Amino acid sequence: MPDTTVALNTHDIVIPRSLRPKDGRFGSGPSKIRPEQLTALTDASRSVLGTSHRQDPVKNLIASIRDDLESLFDLDNGYEIILGNGGASTFWDVATFGLIENRVAHQVAGEFTHRFAEVTRAAPFLSRSYVDRSEPGRRPEARAYADVDAYAWAQNETSTGVTTPTRRPAGATRDQLTLVDGVSSAGAMPNDFTQSDVYYFSPQKAFSSDGGTWFAVMSPQAIERAYRLEATNARVGRWTPPSLSLTSAIENFRKNQTYNTPALTTLALMHEQTKWLLEHGGVPWAYGRARTNSNLVYDWSKSREGLSPFVQTDDDRSPVTAVVNMPEGLDVQELTRILRTNGIFDVDPYRTMGERQLRIACFPSIEHSDIEDLLRCVDWVIDKMKHGQHIH
Ligand SMILES: *Cc1c(COP(=O)(O)O)cnc(C)c1O
Repeated sequence: MPDTTVALNTHDIVIPRSLRPKDGRFGSGPSKIRPEQLTALTDASRSVLGTSHRQDPVKNLIASIRDDLESLFDLDNGYEIILGNGGASTFWDVATFGLIENRVAHQVAGEFTHRFAEVTRAAPFLSRSYVDRSEPGRRPEARAYADVDAYAWAQNETSTGVTTPTRRPAGATRDQLTLVDGVSSAGAMPNDFTQSDVYYFSPQKAFSSDGGTWFAVMSPQAIERAYRLEATNARVGRWTPPSLSLTSAIENFRKNQTYNTPALTTLALMHEQTKWLLEHGGVPWAYGRARTNSNLVYDWSKSREGLSPFVQTDDDRSPVTAVVNMPEGLDVQELTRILRTNGIFDVDPYRTMGERQLRIACFPSIEHSDIEDLLRCVDWVIDKMKHGQHIH
């Protein structure tokens, strides 16, 4: 980590180097990229970066990512992995345009699930979406509706750290597709694919890569829906923008390609991470690592006066993004500012969430010892802030 202490103003609190984490990146997305991934990126640079995505080296890289993800997710029964450009937010547009037929029901547990609901509600060609919203820090209710053709929720709502299991709502019929946002949980939490028709994610969260692309694990029913909707649209003369065409993404990816140029750096980093996860025991191993990290945070918050986990019940508490309430009267903004000047990044709450929170990423790439050091540093800085002691 670069030495940032020289830039400090004398009134700033300087955390002794020996206390600080080796790697100070605790952001929930983009998240820490392991140094080994960056080394692999340099190695890949000559054959992949700066070369055509229509040629073999890039196509082989894409094919290899697909194979690795198929192993990682243990896919069968005709489930397919699809890759497209633009990130999960673009996938919301793609799904709104090409997967939801008439009406969708959303379970909203925070900012990201809210945003997808905003997209479908604004779509003039859909009936008004149902939205079941939970109290902050709680899991939304999973309700079945007779007149929807899709349900949407997030396995991990990254803004609040609330998890929702991948399970079809009781009473849902098989022709109602389930669209599960696995953006920050895929690769770090197990998923029951019999319960998700589309499990989509971006590589800059648990996969420690960079942004700009989306992945979707699609059931045969979801693929069938995409083709049928696009054919219907064509018949009634409704134009499909090519970059939002899901069938185009499917066709291209089957040929190890994307509609337009993909972010090759993102793919190279992703490739390295899926290999690393597979070598160490796949999703169960990654889940164990994330849980150990988040339990350290939750246990710490329970043992400190005035601190507590933000998510009320154990079952709903995220293993990958731990959100904790901080004590009344503590200037959390000042705390995170001090941490930042000491090389500890991005433990701020999600920008629209409460001000008295810390949000700490616990992804598999993050070392347990770094979480322990981080928590010690937070204790140390709070103590200094309380006593108004500034080390010069
Ligand atoms: C980050 C995030 C998104 C948005 O992903 P982008 O790739 O930036 O569009 C969506 N949903 C969840 C749960 C997220 O954490």
